[in-house]
Amino acid sequence: MSTLVRNNVAGYQMPALLYPTSALEPVIGHTTIELHYGKHMQAYVDNLNRLAHGSEYEGMSLREIVQQAPEGPLLDNAGQVLNHALYFEQFTPLTEANNHPGGTLMSAIRFDFGNFETMKQKIQDACSALFGSGWVWLSQDERGKLEIIRCHNGDNPLRLNRKPLLGIDVWEHAYYLDYQNRRAEHVKRLWDIIDWEMVESRLDL
Ligand code: MN
Repeated sequence: MSTLVRNNVAGYQMPALLYPTSALEPVIGHTTIELHYGKHMQAYVDNLNRLAHGSEYEGMSLREIVQQAPEGPLLDNAGQVLNHALYFEQFTPLTEANNHPGGTLMSAIRFDFGNFETMKQKIQDACSALFGSGWVWLSQDERGKLEIIRCHNGDNPLRLNRKPLLGIDVWEHAYYLDYQNRRAEHVKRLWDIIDWEMVESRLDL
């Protein structure tokens, strides 16, 4: 994941969007992607560069900042850059029904949740129960156990020593143009566009 947002002489960079802004329709509309990626994420990247400049964190990887920075604006923005890099990268244009993970990840899901449908329902429930702005993550702890974690604002499972595998953004900016107040409907539709190969690749990070 740290290769996505390179820290070079120009500072932290926006990762490329891997698909056209209209590619996730009708699940996520192109205007939502244009604003969410082009405006919201860009602002987090700009803020991160401004706040890291001249600080002891300048030159650290994004992952190191998220793991080590104290609570405050630098961590908030670094966390949101990391979260959104993972978020936009985990989607793929709608291609088929019955979209599901492959072997290794599916085995882990069956072991820890019983079956895929149960895991999806638990993620949906966690998204509905999260009060205010934040993220719901499928994560993995140091022993390999999968866990669903609710994070407020820009927090990330890395802060809890867990790998972030799949992140659902439940800030209103992620869905309000397309679904207004219907957060649960938005989350339910996302299953059609998850790139499970990308999610599974994060088991090895
Ligand atoms: Mn967002």
